[in-house]
Amino acid sequence: MISDEDLLFIEPKGVGASSALVDTATRRMAAAFRQAEAIQPYYCGFHVCVCGACSGPQDFQLPNDRKIYSLCVHYLAYHPDEVPLGQLQEVEQLPFGEVEPSEQELEGIRMVQYDELPTELKRQLLRGTENKPGDLLADQPPGSSPSSP
Ligand SMILES: [Zn+2]
Repeated sequence: MISDEDLLFIEPKGVGASSALVDTATRRMAAAFRQAEAIQPYYCGFHVCVCGACSGPQDFQLPNDRKIYSLCVHYLAYHPDEVPLGQLQEVEQLPFGEVEPSEQELEGIRMVQYDELPTELKRQLLRGTENKPGDLLADQPPGSSPSSP
């Protein structure tokens, strides 16, 4: 589903390029992403790209109020053909300069199972939502259900 309400909330269909395309749009998006602020509470889920790249557990807001998430740079670098033209033009006009994207900005974060997360991050995930812990963990695969401490 492609949403024009938020920037680069896309779901690429193809596996994407084998290496990152770091062009003007990618650099401008990286610069903008570093200006963005995390939106609270956490989204409490991860956006996972078809190629396996995984976002962080939260969305971000640019200073111009556009909502993005942490795969925005990845999409431009690996799936530029699937970025809607209007959004590509918007990225090219973002007023935050250009930076070289970091590896994590390009590749996303590695997918981890909930049980692999550091305890402190689990606490933050639980704290960052008003949902009951049971709701938060409802999507976990069987066998990794929240056990009592
Ligand atoms: Zn991807």
